[in-house]
Amino acid sequence: MSAPNGLNTNNNKPVPIIIVSEKNETNKDHQETVIDIETEPPTPDTEIMANFDDTLQRARLAYASGKSRNVSFRRKQLENLLRCYEENENEIISALDADLRRPKQESLIVETEFMKNDIKHILYHLNDWVKAEKPEKSFVNLMDDLQIFNDPFGVVLVIGAWNYPLQLLLVPVAAAIAAGNCVVIKPSEIAANCAKFIAEKIPKYLDNECYPVVCGGPTETAELLNQRFDYIFYTGSTRVGKIVHAAANKYLTPTTLELGGKSPCYIDKSVELRTAVKRILWGKLINCGQTCIAPDYVLCSKEMQDKFVTEAKDVLKEWYGENIQNSPDLSRVINQNNFQRLVGLMKSGRIVVGGKYDAAERFIEPTIIVDVKPSDPIMEEEIFGPILPIYTVENAYDAMKFINARESPLVLYIFTTETEVQNLFINGTHSGGMCLNDTIMHYAVDTLPFGGVGMSGMGRYHGKYGFDTFTHKKSCLGKDLSAFGEKLASARYPPYSDAKGSLLSFLLRKRRPLPKLYLTHILAVGVGVGLTFLANFYLQVRKGKLLSR
Ligand code: NAD
Repeated sequence: MSAPNGLNTNNNKPVPIIIVSEKNETNKDHQETVIDIETEPPTPDTEIMANFDDTLQRARLAYASGKSRNVSFRRKQLENLLRCYEENENEIISALDADLRRPKQESLIVETEFMKNDIKHILYHLNDWVKAEKPEKSFVNLMDDLQIFNDPFGVVLVIGAWNYPLQLLLVPVAAAIAAGNCVVIKPSEIAANCAKFIAEKIPKYLDNECYPVVCGGPTETAELLNQRFDYIFYTGSTRVGKIVHAAANKYLTPTTLELGGKSPCYIDKSVELRTAVKRILWGKLINCGQTCIAPDYVLCSKEMQDKFVTEAKDVLKEWYGENIQNSPDLSRVINQNNFQRLVGLMKSGRIVVGGKYDAAERFIEPTIIVDVKPSDPIMEEEIFGPILPIYTVENAYDAMKFINARESPLVLYIFTTETEVQNLFINGTHSGGMCLNDTIMHYAVDTLPFGGVGMSGMGRYHGKYGFDTFTHKKSCLGKDLSAFGEKLASARYPPYSDAKGSLLSFLLRKRRPLPKLYLTHILAVGVGVGLTFLANFYLQVRKGKLLSR
């Protein structure tokens, strides 16, 4: 296959794609294999290991050559990736349709447009981001050079998840490229059509040595994790996140874990209800609820619950018509395993909206469940589907207590116009992020960091935060070698004395920085004194000239 114009031209070399367990059938059921690498190390597959060794070796050589660190090279690769999204938009939409029956509008907003904007944001700012930072100097370093260099880590591994199979993989990949790393790219095997797209297209647009794609399931990922990387960025479940973290521990590899969990949504009576219901249902139903930041369950009073349900019935009819299954605007559950799991979760509480499902299509009607108990499975595990339980609480304090008794969520949604209630949650809870009076939209703000805390993850990315994630901040002190500098510094040398000690403690003493306000005052006084001096000088000279005539 010939490369399109301007693409990578090293086609004569073998392309390092390892499609280890290619799945030709769409949405083949995923049998989850729990591999506890601490206690159950997988049997080494020598053929896979040889392939990974080879891929990694080439990436290491490429990194050592320095080409991925060259800023023009990084820009070119990012421009190529942007072109990949632009030239293959229809194929991307088709792959997402085949994997998730994702409506085109959702695919455009949450994958292609999102990824394009992400790269453009990087390209606009890259020249500033790569510059060495010059931190503030204290008195003792006045004559020295202080710098913080933005170093890449080296060869990094990025592992993606199936629910947003392109952007969850390629947004961190773009950040890693921007930071100058070589990247081993591992798509999720569960979104098989998207994985195939990535394995086929990415090598045509990106440098093959620096950015190889490797494919496979849990066994292959476990083998991959046996290799030594300089950074691992993982998106997926908390269960597998622990496996990744344990594997990284072997070489003390720094890791970002973008995990899941239950994101609660509190709503009080101060809000305009129809708007709130629309925003919550949209966040729940986009991608059929298979979104890590979907509002998992609602917390509200009994009175609000009844109003919420009435409004929700009306909104769903407006969005999807009488027969929701016929609507083209609702995605499907990824596979039978997840479908069966979700049907099981619907056994808790009392269904007041929806409740229908069709295994042949993996269709689940948007469903609202009330009268749930905290110990019900639906209130204990992450739902990851179009089902919304409502748990009633007396007030905001009650809701906060409920939230704080559980693992820290990836995001906390609060719907209220009362500043006092907003502050109560801002100051009284822990979560990866918060979004007030909307859902999901915080994810799209590239100046906000995105990431979890506790069981919902560690680390953050998006925009500059992504660049920083894949960057080692290398500090460097450049000392002055002049005779005066050496004279000042020589107080540290033996033989020690009280005088030397006093001088050292004077030089090293921490001084409160002058507030910026005073600096401008001091500057203004300085300019004033200077001007007066000049004016006096000028008058003196004129007077002298006049007298001498
Ligand atoms: P997944 O099954 O696609 O797994 C993610 C990756 O882990 C895949 O590349 C897969 O090959 C690999 N993997 C799976 N099992 C493994 C094992 N035993 N050993 C090693 N590697 C293994 O995705 P998932 O885990 O089902 O994703 C859903 C979860 O991810 C949800 O909990 C969701 O909340 C979370 N998620 C989080 C974010 C975020 O940004 N924080 C985004 C999307 C999804």
